Amino acid sequence: MTDPHRKPSLLARLLLVALVRNHSRIRRELRDSAVETNRLKADIRQKDRELKDNNEELRMLKLEKLERQLEETTKDDRESIHLSAADAHKMTADMLLEVARANAEKDRMKESRDLAHRALERAAHSPSSTANAHSKRHLESHDLDLPSVKKQKHGHKKVPCTHCYQYKLMRKCDDGAPCWPCIFLGTECKRMKCNNFETGTCQKSQCTMAHEDDDFPDASLVPQGHVGQIIGPAPYVPKRVT
Ligand SMILES: [Zn+2]
Ligand SMILES: [Zn+2]
Ligand SMILES: [Zn+2]
Repeated sequence: MTDPHRKPSLLARLLLVALVRNHSRIRRELRDSAVETNRLKADIRQKDRELKDNNEELRMLKLEKLERQLEETTKDDRESIHLSAADAHKMTADMLLEVARANAEKDRMKESRDLAHRALERAAHSPSSTANAHSKRHLESHDLDLPSVKKQKHGHKKVPCTHCYQYKLMRKCDDGAPCWPCIFLGTECKRMKCNNFETGTCQKSQCTMAHEDDDFPDASLVPQGHVGQIIGPAPYVPKRVT
């Protein structure tokens, strides 16, 4: 029997060499793979950094875009504010024009009122009214005409003018030609002739048409015809001042 420890067989030696070689190859491979791992890790870190940078860049880009949008919106707003300012300016001008018109209308009305007052004053100083001035009642209702005395004698009703009938002012219409509402409003004062105009021919004691003995001026009389009435309220006519 040979001693295996002192004298290894050739086969055993070969096996050992192969093992050692194999071992160092494996170790080399392990080392390589560790290096590779490290390299990969570094790579990943690098990629991570890059990604972060990219994100940062993206964020910046987004921010910039938002800022641009904001700027544009603000500009639009400013423009629209400019526009509404122009509108407001125009509106104010329209309103001022309206106020001016209203003032002109007010002046016009005041003028016609003054005119009416002046006409009244003239009438109060005319001989016909001074003749009747002894009676206050006379002055109030008949200060512009004489025929009222005759009318009362004949029992005829008051004869409203066509304007006062149309504008529901019969209660304010007096026996004047022109009547007080027509003086105040500056309207034409006309009365309709009764079909039985001649004295003594009209049998209606309550006839509201004009008759010969009412003594209205011929120019203020019109033939009988239809006159409609307004639907709304009567226009404003103040009490007559004497
Ligand atoms: Zn009248
Ligand atoms: Zn009238
Ligand atoms: Zn009559």
